[in-house]
Parts: sequence; C-alpha cells; structure tokens
Amino acid sequence: MTATKPYAQLTYEEMAAKNKEYVWHPFTQMKQYIEDDPVIITHGKGRKLYDMQGKEYWDGVSSIWLNVHGHCIEEIDNAIREQLDLVAHSTLLGMANVPSVLLAEKLVEIMPKGLRKVFYSDAGATSVEIAIKMAFQYWQHKGKPAKQHFITMKEAYHGDTIGAVSVGAIDLYHKTYSSLLFPSIKVTYPFVYRSPYGEDHDVIVKKHLEELEELLKERGHEIAALIVEPIVQGASGIIVMPEGYLRGVRELCTTYNVLMIADEVATGFGRTGKMFACEHEGVTPDILTAGKGITGGYLPVAITVTTDNIYEAFLGEYEEQKTFFHGHSYTGNPLGCAAALANLELFEKNRLVEQVANKSIYLESRLNDFYELEHVGDIRQKGFMIGIELVKDKTTKEAYEWKERIGVLVCRRAKELGMLLRPLGNVIVFMPPLASTVEELDDMLSILKQAIYDITEEDKE
Ligand code: PLP
Repeated sequence: MTATKPYAQLTYEEMAAKNKEYVWHPFTQMKQYIEDDPVIITHGKGRKLYDMQGKEYWDGVSSIWLNVHGHCIEEIDNAIREQLDLVAHSTLLGMANVPSVLLAEKLVEIMPKGLRKVFYSDAGATSVEIAIKMAFQYWQHKGKPAKQHFITMKEAYHGDTIGAVSVGAIDLYHKTYSSLLFPSIKVTYPFVYRSPYGEDHDVIVKKHLEELEELLKERGHEIAALIVEPIVQGASGIIVMPEGYLRGVRELCTTYNVLMIADEVATGFGRTGKMFACEHEGVTPDILTAGKGITGGYLPVAITVTTDNIYEAFLGEYEEQKTFFHGHSYTGNPLGCAAALANLELFEKNRLVEQVANKSIYLESRLNDFYELEHVGDIRQKGFMIGIELVKDKTTKEAYEWKERIGVLVCRRAKELGMLLRPLGNVIVFMPPLASTVEELDDMLSILKQAIYDITEEDKE
C-alpha cells in the first residue's frame, strides 16, 4: 500500500518542514525534536506502522498503550463507515443516539459486577475528572459535605487536566502546576523491586495496608474517595502490585466509608490478561474509569462507570438541582461508540482476553532471558503490559542518571531496528497490540533485546 492524496503531493522533506513549523508535540522537548528527522506515519496495517520514508515498524507501545487488534482492521473500519452513512455525531445532552445506548449495555455486561451506569467522555483524563466530580458531589447529596478530600498513590498518573493532575503524583510532570491544584493525600504504592520492607510480598502488602488504614482511621470522615491504578501503576514505570493489595484497599475503603475509584484507563480492555485489572482480585470499585483500548485504539472515547447507588444519589426534582452538571461536546460520539462495539465483538469472536492471558505466559518465559543482559535490573509484567528497568549496577540497583537518557537511547536504537517504543525514564515500556501473534511477538522481542544490548553493553566492548 502506498500513501495517497495529500501525502502524495509532498516529499518527506516538505512534510517534515511543515511539522517543524506548525506542530507542538505532547510530552516532547521540541528543541531536540526539531533537530531530528521525524517519523511521519502515513498508514498502518496489522501490528505495523509505515512512514513517509518507506520504513516499517512494529507498533511496540500500541500507539501509546491503546491499540488492540492492530491497524486497519476490516471489522472496525466497516463499523465506522456504516455509522458514518447514518450520522457522525449527535449530542447526549438530554437525548440519545443508537451506538451509545448499545455500547453502554454491552459495557455493563462485561464490567465487574455492580457497575451499571455509563457516563461517556473522550479521554482518559476526562474520565478521571468525571470520577472526581461524581464522588465529590455524591457525598454532598448524601448529607456528608465534609467528605471532600481524595487519597491517591505516590507516583500516580491519571492524565493531564487539572483535576487529574491534582490526584497525580509524578513530580516531573506535576510539580510545576502545584499552586493550581487541589491538594490530595498520598499513600505509597507497593513497589516490590525497591521496597523498604524486603522481598516478601505478604509483608509488603501488610505494611502498605497498615499505612492506608492509619490514614483512613484518622481522616476517613473527610475523604470522598481513593483513586488507584489497579494491579499496575503505569506511567510511574509499570509497577505491578503484589497480590492481595488491591483486595485490601477495597476492604478498607468499604470499612471507612470511602469511595474507591479504579482508574483502568491503561489496564482496561484486556491489557493485563483480564478484561479489567480489578478482576484479578475479584474487586468491584465504586467508580471505574477507562478509555484507550475501548475503541480498539481507533477513536477518542472514554467512560466513567458507576453503581446504581451513586447514580441514584443524583436523582431528584428539577428544582433540587441535583443534576450532574458535566458533559463534553463529543460525549457519546456515535462513530466512536460504533468502533467500540465492533472492537468488543472482535474481543469475543477471537477470545482475545484468553489469548492475552495465554500468550503472556509465553512472553514471561522469553522475557526471563533478558536477565542475562548486564543492565536489566527488573522485568515487570502483567499480561501485555511490560516494563524493563535498566540499572547501572544490578547488585546495588543503582539507577542511571536522568541526563544519561538511557531509555531514550534504547528506544532510538529499537526504532532503527524496526520497532517504535517510548520509555518512562530508565524503564523500557513494551506494550504490543493485544492481537499480536507469537511470531510477531518473537520478532518484537528480538529487536527489544538487541536494542538494550547495543546501548548498554556493546559500546563498552
Ligand atoms: N489514567 C491512566 C492510568 C493513564 O495511564 C492515562 C494515560 O496514559 C490516563 C489516565 C490519561 O489518559 P488520556 O491520555 O487518554 O487522557
């Protein structure tokens, strides 16, 4: 397949010049970026992306953690086209559209039991904003206006809007805005590799739950909700919780009458080997947020799903003004919802969640070989969510310094070898599309290993 229409008129150099002239890229230091030759994607097929210079790449981070089946998947393409012939968009403010109704029904079917009402938006961050406002307002309606505060986890990431940043805790991204934010209370997310409590998972879980309980005992009466990235804390470096912690958090939230918000924006829709990560521990949160994979990685749809109990607290006479005054122009977009329905049908048809769970066992065994590399300190994996932490010294776990840009260099090498990746500091993130075949995964893993070796070892020979 070749690039068509607008691209065909322009050379790569002309397009790169326009990119440099007009586009400000997210999470990108533009001073360096504009010095480099940019990858400019023209099209994709299956698990690969193709650029204007005729190079092809594995989509090794699923286009920032969201692609599911691959690119240009016939069933999803057709669903969008069919919906386009009907209507591209109509509002959900006070009215409905067909795909958003059908999708909500489907979502309730696959959600952890008890989550029954779907509120749509268009990004992970907006789904979190909604969860925060919903939890806050819920307590006002319940006659407990003192419950206004939020607990979050250290190093949490919930998106880049101001509310989501307020419950975020990654200094590098969030500190600058501190005076703009509402304060949130932070507890420590259990991080086995660098735990001060040793290596015994049970001990780590116990210590962290004690920390949370102490806080809840003292301040539970003024806490509206706790927000957590269940099972895997993503942007902090793919930190996988030890077993039992999430269940413990759920129990403590119930005991101390605090709502639990599970942010499944990264973990939802099969990524960890269950449809939702909460299922690993049989947990139903009071509010679940999700986005990314919901449309198979096609269109911006996100959801905040909650219980009948919370929904019903907002019911009242018009003049009572209990309405949830929140919405976005593209809330419940029919094209996005049609894509999501087709995506979920493919999940079922291909038994994709089961496939991810099975293939992740294979991935684990292949990844184990990476420990033979001198600078691979820790490999963290849950399903198709993988983080490889590179360290200067394995014995002391000494970290590479920020200025060494080790993650950036490894990902740059991977790009040369044919795979697109994006690091989180010294952690190389590998998140292949969920439908990747074993052969495709093998190819991607070879590139990954080679890139790590070339950057961390070869230079020293
Ligand atoms: N929450 C979590 C756990 C995430 O990992 C992300 C993005 O990576 C977000 C929220 C924000 O999602 P979005 O980028 O769609 O706003």
